[in-house]
Amino acid sequence: MKTSVQPKLLSIRHVREVLSLRELSARIGSDPLLVQASNGNTSIKLDGVLWIKASGKWLAHSVQEQMLVPMELAEVKESIEKDTEIAPRYPLKDQLRPSIETPMHAILRHRVVIHVHSINALAWAIRLDGPDQLKERLAGLQWQWIPYASSGIPLAREIEKAVAGAPETDVLILGNHGLVVCGHDCYAAEKLLCEVERRLAITPRQFPKPDTTVLALIARFSRWQFPDVASLHALGTDAVSRKILKGGVLYPCQAIFLGQTVPLFPPAVVVSEFRERSNGKDRTPPFVAVERSGVMLNEKMTNAERATLIALVQVMLRTDESARLRYLKGAEVTDVLSRGAHGCKEVMEEKANSPAGVKELDEVRTASADRLFAGAGPA
Ligand SMILES: [Zn+2]
Repeated sequence: MKTSVQPKLLSIRHVREVLSLRELSARIGSDPLLVQASNGNTSIKLDGVLWIKASGKWLAHSVQEQMLVPMELAEVKESIEKDTEIAPRYPLKDQLRPSIETPMHAILRHRVVIHVHSINALAWAIRLDGPDQLKERLAGLQWQWIPYASSGIPLAREIEKAVAGAPETDVLILGNHGLVVCGHDCYAAEKLLCEVERRLAITPRQFPKPDTTVLALIARFSRWQFPDVASLHALGTDAVSRKILKGGVLYPCQAIFLGQTVPLFPPAVVVSEFRERSNGKDRTPPFVAVERSGVMLNEKMTNAERATLIALVQVMLRTDESARLRYLKGAEVTDVLSRGAHGCKEVMEEKANSPAGVKELDEVRTASADRLFAGAGPA
């Protein structure tokens, strides 16, 4: 066991590389097609130290806020091998904890690793025929499909197995989860991310306009309001999205932030028994969808729930009715929920509860939604 309590001082060149990673992280984190709220993580390996994003932090803030946690790479690998807890060896400011995906970043041999919950990648990653569909789209790239595994050491082990025979792999499609791209430096990794995104891009389906007659009845109840993002109505008006969502949970963030079932009501139920039906056993849902009418939001909805809902709609609008999908199994959903939200939900809630945090989150949220939905609207 080494006795040092501080990571080695970085050379000027390495300081620049860390800065590049922070700038790259902020760019990715501000793109709602790639990252929503505090999900996604980035890392760089320098002189045997893995600098990894802290759990619960927003990549979008990575320039103004220090969120990289230094971890001894050899120690992380040893923990993976022995299946023991990965603990930071250095004292950390503000109780930062390394991302739950630290093992995945550690086992990949590339210096820079980017993990995102890309909307386009997710639309492929939930399909049973995803690996076949992507053969042509990703032809010529060194990519692999990783079947769904829980975040942390189980996912890292799956990846380690897959890349053992193909160490040049620098693109991973994570089943029911997202995308990983790697590179020698930030420039190479970002360039590859753009190329993969270009190849995975799907044009979202047009959807019917909302019918506000029934929604207006909901607006009379306190706490319920019309959404300010028009595309959210698709969960009620788009028959394909409704059908898909009735099938279950497609990826962890959906279960963590939006629950295991979508609160989807027929219009008649809204008229007769909205109050009873919208009050869940444990809590009121963050949103409700009304068949053929649209969506209404609970004003108590957190920013993470909102970002996750916006993303879910975008994944749905990129998923064909004919696609056969892999839903998370009951045990997988239970596992996700019991492990505490990718380690991020509690931080989100802390932020959402402080007035300064709310303002800060709102700014990012509004900027992100504006960028994604500029000029977009229902058909
Ligand atoms: Zn993830």
